[in-house]
Amino acid sequence: MRPWNFSAGPSALPLEVLQQAAAEMTDWRGCGMSVMEMSHRGKQFTQIRDEAVADLRELLAIPDDFDVLFMQGGATAQNAIVPMNLIGRAGLGKADYVLSGIWSNKSHKEAQRYGDIAIAGSSGTDTVINGVSQAPWTWYPSAQDWHVRSDAAYLHLCSNETIGGLELSELPDMAALGAARVPLVVDASSHFLSRPIDFSKAAMVYAGAQKNAGPAGVTVVIVRKDLIGHALPICPSAFDYANVAAAGSMFNTPPTYAIYMAGLVFKWLKRQGGVAAIEAANIAKAQALYGFLDASSFYVSPVHAASRSRMNVPFFLHDESLNAEFLAQAEKAGLMQLKGHKSVGGMRASIYNAVPLEAVQELISYLQDFERRHG
Ligand code: PMP
Repeated sequence: MRPWNFSAGPSALPLEVLQQAAAEMTDWRGCGMSVMEMSHRGKQFTQIRDEAVADLRELLAIPDDFDVLFMQGGATAQNAIVPMNLIGRAGLGKADYVLSGIWSNKSHKEAQRYGDIAIAGSSGTDTVINGVSQAPWTWYPSAQDWHVRSDAAYLHLCSNETIGGLELSELPDMAALGAARVPLVVDASSHFLSRPIDFSKAAMVYAGAQKNAGPAGVTVVIVRKDLIGHALPICPSAFDYANVAAAGSMFNTPPTYAIYMAGLVFKWLKRQGGVAAIEAANIAKAQALYGFLDASSFYVSPVHAASRSRMNVPFFLHDESLNAEFLAQAEKAGLMQLKGHKSVGGMRASIYNAVPLEAVQELISYLQDFERRHG
């Protein structure tokens, strides 16, 4: 029995997927080669890529007017690649960013190198919601309070802040924000494939694979076709969406093994019943864990209830002097990687698609047990 893995990413992959990859490691489907050893241009890998794209399209119901690209450099590289590709469209040169935590702040900072960048909304202050005071970055700024320039080339947001543990439960309607023509660009890295995506609202979604979609090394970019082909002259050729799209994600040698693994994860997800089924499971997991934390006076969940992520659950022990003991005993109990991000401290349980309800229940039992012994 393997221990349960609550890492924020790279994170748990479905055991079935790891076992299949192991079985196919030295000889992929009788071709005599590992996936790592085959030409990306050969018929075997072309099939692997095509199936991965088709399965992803099916899982997320991606409309035909969107391209699916496999890129490299992670979501971090997209912080530059997005403005380099989109900000120059129709000579607009400006873009707006919603700030909700560490990842959206990084995106905003990087974008400033490429044009006129404004903050559309931010949760970087204390606030009071329904009489409860909330610290900075523990609440998702309400779309009603955003100011989006109607001539911005795009609006960027991070729909799941992995470190703060915030999730935007519904993408904004750009028309309601008075910016109907502004495309919405979403960093969905840490909840990608955990819930459906409304492509009538998002014009572009990107995600590093290493949470719900596979191993690190491949970044999934889903972009509406009319946004492609407007890259700034300084954009490196390998990062121009037009080149990547025209070459079927093979403008340069793609991260073949990571794409293969993501493809296996997509097939696993289809066997689970698809995104709707995994979303239901994710809701049940999150309700169980937050429900427990809220009922306890030993643990604290800092995030405003309406903004809580189903994927990343930060929490604190009231008595932080117990942190080291909590983590050491958790590992002994087979509950790995519960330490919070260094910028936030405390604990964080990431309960991605591959972490089953059973793991969350064992975590809750451990939390109860630890509280009983120290409370
Ligand atoms: N955005 C979000 C929401 C993330 O969680 C991460 C990584 N944890 C990144 C961006 C950066 O991804 P990468 O390290 O793959 O560049």
